[in-house]
Amino acid sequence: MKQIHFAGPLIEKDDIKIINQSVSNGFYDNYKKYSNEFIKNLEKYFNIKHALTTFTCTHAMHLAAISIGLKKGDEVICPEISWVATAHSLSHHNLKLKFCDIDIETLCMCPTSLEKNITKKTKAIMVVHAFGHPANMIKIMKIAKKYNLKVIEDAAPSLGSHIRGKKTGTFGDVGCFSFQGAKIITTNEGGVLITNNKKTIEKARLFSYLGRTDRKATFWSDHIGYRYQMSNLNSALGITQLKKIDKIIKIKRNIFQNYKNNFLDNNNIHFIDEPSYAFSNCTYPNIILNRGFKKKRDNLIKYLNKHKISARAMFPQLSQMPMHKTNKKNINAIKAANSGITLPSPVYLSKKQINFITEKINTFISNNE
Ligand SMILES: *Cc1c(COP(=O)(O)O)cnc(C)c1O
Repeated sequence: MKQIHFAGPLIEKDDIKIINQSVSNGFYDNYKKYSNEFIKNLEKYFNIKHALTTFTCTHAMHLAAISIGLKKGDEVICPEISWVATAHSLSHHNLKLKFCDIDIETLCMCPTSLEKNITKKTKAIMVVHAFGHPANMIKIMKIAKKYNLKVIEDAAPSLGSHIRGKKTGTFGDVGCFSFQGAKIITTNEGGVLITNNKKTIEKARLFSYLGRTDRKATFWSDHIGYRYQMSNLNSALGITQLKKIDKIIKIKRNIFQNYKNNFLDNNNIHFIDEPSYAFSNCTYPNIILNRGFKKKRDNLIKYLNKHKISARAMFPQLSQMPMHKTNKKNINAIKAANSGITLPSPVYLSKKQINFITEKINTFISNNE
């Protein structure tokens, strides 16, 4: 049996061709050619006024926090289960994090728990469209309006997902996506920040380029900024990748559907389905074990890895990590962290391989009940 990878991109002839081209002609007159074209294409795709491509999505989220005016000590609520980038991008600005619970049906922020956590000090919400599924933005935006809170969307894995035609990343004040190698499209490493707000994009651009203003002289800077913009060569790959997003979503949704069919009537496993209110790119399929906790889950992953199946454990609770340590009793977060598994979904995954993975999971569970 060959290794079944966790995830991986669709790389075709046109991707290789444009990378070769960008190396041959992406300098001198063309040093911004691919960057500018990719940004223009993204703005069109999202139907949004402004996009800024960055080195990673983490960079985009780091810029987002200052670009919407958050300041040291401001309280931001984010879901307890996410990749650490979500939290770290805020912590770098000395913002105060508060972790709310997730919805166990979607693994995204739970609107009820969000509202319960809001205090007078709360300034913003960091939503995560976890594993590609859109968070319930209808409810979350209502809460944001009610309490006058800013909204950042960590939409990293959710490119192409939408709620009644409105794409993730376009609901809040600013949205951020990732083009890292395991995401639905890739620039090898990369990210983008999108917004309709002119002030926000101006600030993001300013800080993404060392605070350079040229105000008193060429190369003059007025702020301590960063150097965060995506390279011309990485952008070239983004151009061909974005063109095939619909094709890749079809492949991903098909993989998801095959898993779903296999786990449909399984009493031992809860399959995290597409939310009823949304269209998801379904990029990362997840299951939760109905019985048994961390040890059994970890052993199941070991068993799958031994059979060359690269399944992964769910993210641990952010509140348990030393730099974010708080005493939180978020019931669903605890459940997901201890019994959740993200299943492999590389674009090449066949129905036969999905059946093989399912069979291994079922065998392990029936031997360990
Ligand atoms: C992938 C991912 C990120 C990080 O993206 P990078 O481009 O690696 O910085 C952040 N948040 C979530 C939810 C992700 O899935």
